[in-house]
Order: sequence, then C-alpha cells, then structure tokens
Amino acid sequence: MNTISFADLNLAPEILKALTESGYITPTPVQAQAIPIVLEGRDLMAGAQTGTGKTAAFALPMLQKLLPLASTSTSPARHPVRALILVPTRELAIQVEESVKAYAKHSRLRSLVVFGGVDIKTQTPHLKTGVEILVATPGRLLDHVEQKTVQLNQVQMLVLDEADRMLDMGFMPDLKRILALLPKQRQSLMFSATFSNEIKKLSAEFLINPALIEVARSNATAENVTQKVYLVAQADKHALLAQLLRGSDATQVLVFTKTKITASRLAKQLQRDGVSADAIHGDKSQLERMQALDAFKQGKVTVLIGTDVAARGLDIDQLPMVINYEIPSAPEDYVHRIGRTGRAGASGAAISLVSPEEEKYLKEIEKLIKHEIQKENAVVPQQAARAERTPRGEHHERQERSYTPRPAAPKKPSHDPWFDKPYEPSVSATTENKQPERPANKPKKEVAAILLRRQS
Ligand code: AMP
Repeated sequence: MNTISFADLNLAPEILKALTESGYITPTPVQAQAIPIVLEGRDLMAGAQTGTGKTAAFALPMLQKLLPLASTSTSPARHPVRALILVPTRELAIQVEESVKAYAKHSRLRSLVVFGGVDIKTQTPHLKTGVEILVATPGRLLDHVEQKTVQLNQVQMLVLDEADRMLDMGFMPDLKRILALLPKQRQSLMFSATFSNEIKKLSAEFLINPALIEVARSNATAENVTQKVYLVAQADKHALLAQLLRGSDATQVLVFTKTKITASRLAKQLQRDGVSADAIHGDKSQLERMQALDAFKQGKVTVLIGTDVAARGLDIDQLPMVINYEIPSAPEDYVHRIGRTGRAGASGAAISLVSPEEEKYLKEIEKLIKHEIQKENAVVPQQAARAERTPRGEHHERQERSYTPRPAAPKKPSHDPWFDKPYEPSVSATTENKQPERPANKPKKEVAAILLRRQS
C-alpha cells in the first residue's frame, strides 16, 4: 500500500499548492518511485504508460530542480531552454505541456509546446521570449534549430516520453540529431510502455547508469483469461488465424503483430477473406486511427490488428479475445497484451500463434508468468493454406503441412470444443457496445478444415 504523500517527496510549497489545486492527494506508484530518483540527479528508465501519472513523475522533480533558476527578468537570455521533453505526437505534446503549466503555475518557470502541422512562424515569437521548459515533437524541434529560433546548449534535463512510440514512428534519426546538440553533462529520463530490444538499445545508448522502475504491470496474468498456444509454421499463420476467427463467436478480437507492415498486410488478407478487419498503426493519421477504433468499438469492425505500440493507447475494456499473431520478444509485453482481455472479472481468451522461430520467446514468457501455457500443434492442411491464397472453388490435392515432422497423423479432423464455447459479453459490454448480429439468412463461409492435435 502506497502511503507516501507529496509533502514527503521534498517538493517546494509552490508545487504542492498547484498539486492540491489540481486535486492530487497522493502520488501514484510511478510518481512515488521516480520523483526521489530524479531529484537525486540519476538517469532513469521507466516502464509506465499513459494513465499511470507518468507526466507528473518527470515534470514535478523537473520543476523542483529548475526552481532556483527561475527568473523574473524579461530578458530572453535569462530564460534559456533548460529542460527538453520530446514526445511522439502533437496530442501528447499539448497534453504534457498543459500538465507542466498547471504544476508550474505558482512558479516563475515558463513552458512552451512546439509541434509540426502548424505554421512555424506562429511558434517563433513565443520561443524568442525565452522558456525554461520546452515540449516538442522531434521534427518540428529540428526545424526550429535550423531556423535558429531555439538554442539547446543549456539543456540540463532531457525526457524522452513514449520512447517506444517514437521509435515506432521512425524518429530515431531525428532523436540522434537532437541528442548531438545537447550538452553531454545532463540528466536523461526515458519513459516507455513496452520493453522491446530496440528500447533497451536506445536506453543503453542515451542513458548513463539509469535507475530502472516499472509500474502498472503485474507479471501475473489474470486467472480468468484462458491462455492457449498453437504451434504453427509461420507460413500457415494466416490460414490458421482466418479459421480461428470464423470458428469463434467473439465479436471483438484484437490481433497483435510485431510490425506495422504485417498488421496492414494481414488486415487486407482478412478483408479479402470476408472478415471485417482493420489495422491501426503509426503510419495512419490520427483521424484514421480514431475511425478504426470507433468502428471496432461499435462492432462494425470485428477484428482490429495492431502492434503493441499502436494498440497501447486504446481505451477498450473487456475484450473477449486477444490473438497474438506473433508473440512479442519482450515477455512483459505479452502480459500487457493479454491484460486487454478478461478485465473486471469478465472471462477472456488469449491465443498465441507460435512458429518454431518464436519458441525461445515463448519460453521466456512462461518463465515470467511462472506457468506453462497449454499448447497444441496446428496441422494446417495444404488445402486450407492454399484456399486462403487462391480464388474460391479451386481444388487442390490434399497435402498436410505440419508444424514438426512426426509419425503419420490421424486424418480425421479433431474438433476443439474450446472454440465452441459461446462468447458471453459482460453486462457493460452488452449495454455499451451493441454488436450487430449475423443475419439469420447469411450463411457462414465454407472453409477448409484445420486439424488441431494436442501435443504429447
Ligand atoms: P498521465 O499518465 O501522466 O497521462 O496522467 C494520467 C491522468 O492522471 C492525468 O489526468 C493526470 O492529471 C492524473 N494524475 C496524475 N497524477 C495524479 C495523482 N497523483 N493524483 C490524481 N490524479 C493524477
């Protein structure tokens, strides 16, 4: 139980006053952990996502450290940029700067936000008056650097917020250019919701001996989530997924892929198969992402496909089914993904399609969650796999494509009762998300069978 108060965290009265006015009573776990570390001057790598209070976790100690440098002077020279907060999107930029402003309201510290997509000239006069805390998206910040409207040589604190999303959106080259402009002597903080290898590499590159904290993610998986693994060759995953989707009654399925490209390709393939699917990822505009999400929430789209990063910010509760088309290489991300289902006591299913190449990641996941996940070999008949790729009605001779060589398999397709279990939406899911039902006269699509065999 977290009983620490903001007053225990050595924050100045003007900051405490702003917090009281914001209605904050006690620090959230990430705040309680991060604030002392940042005040100490250490670099920090924090695993925390939006909603955990991460903004205040870096903004409050930042303000505390900059307070002695606040100036009443009107001279821009007395207000150099001392703290830089880099964020991936304009929405987050606006949100973060609003929070900083609210926490700094009783101090003399100035903050500003700059992001792309608006006329750069409107931002320049504000920058020129001088600000201590600058919140920026990487591209627009570099535009200002080029136009010499901002100087970064006095930055003593750097925050990379939603670092995973920045990498996902291709900001790495911009980040490197910006980092090269900053003084070497500085404190750097990184916040990320996922822990991919890229994130670990980025933190090794940009942080010096960082303290590590992680919140809001328990490594225990919910007991009401049925987990299952299908061992399947990578090339057969699409056929298996299509079959699983058709065989399930779930009206909202979130499918995770490792890359944006796979998410897009899969959405198109499934649409061709007659499945109502859409992809959400960083390459889509904010509007497109919101439309896809809305359609999913309203039940117009049954299957939403995305990467960890794209799916992270989605505010969707009580999903009946999550499918890992590819399992994540960072085991913590698995826990996070399947936490999307079975919330608030509702039962959920988490299915993972695991290829031989991914088995090493599966072992890591099982180690983390401290139990073995039920596994089955998916034997996808060649016919099924081809039927997914060829026009309907064509016939192929039956050949089995199996996961691993093994003694002759029984030819009789076994049926898995697990998928016969009807999806029973929770009370709120039924009232909030009215799903259109399949018209009674609309026949189910014919598909070739997939044999599923329990692994011995
Ligand atoms: P964040 O994760 O930083 O986006 O914050 C999520 C929301 O929690 C924001 O609306 C904050 O204003 C709010 N918040 C952050 N810290 C606290 C706190 N200690 N007590 C109450 N609300 C908070």
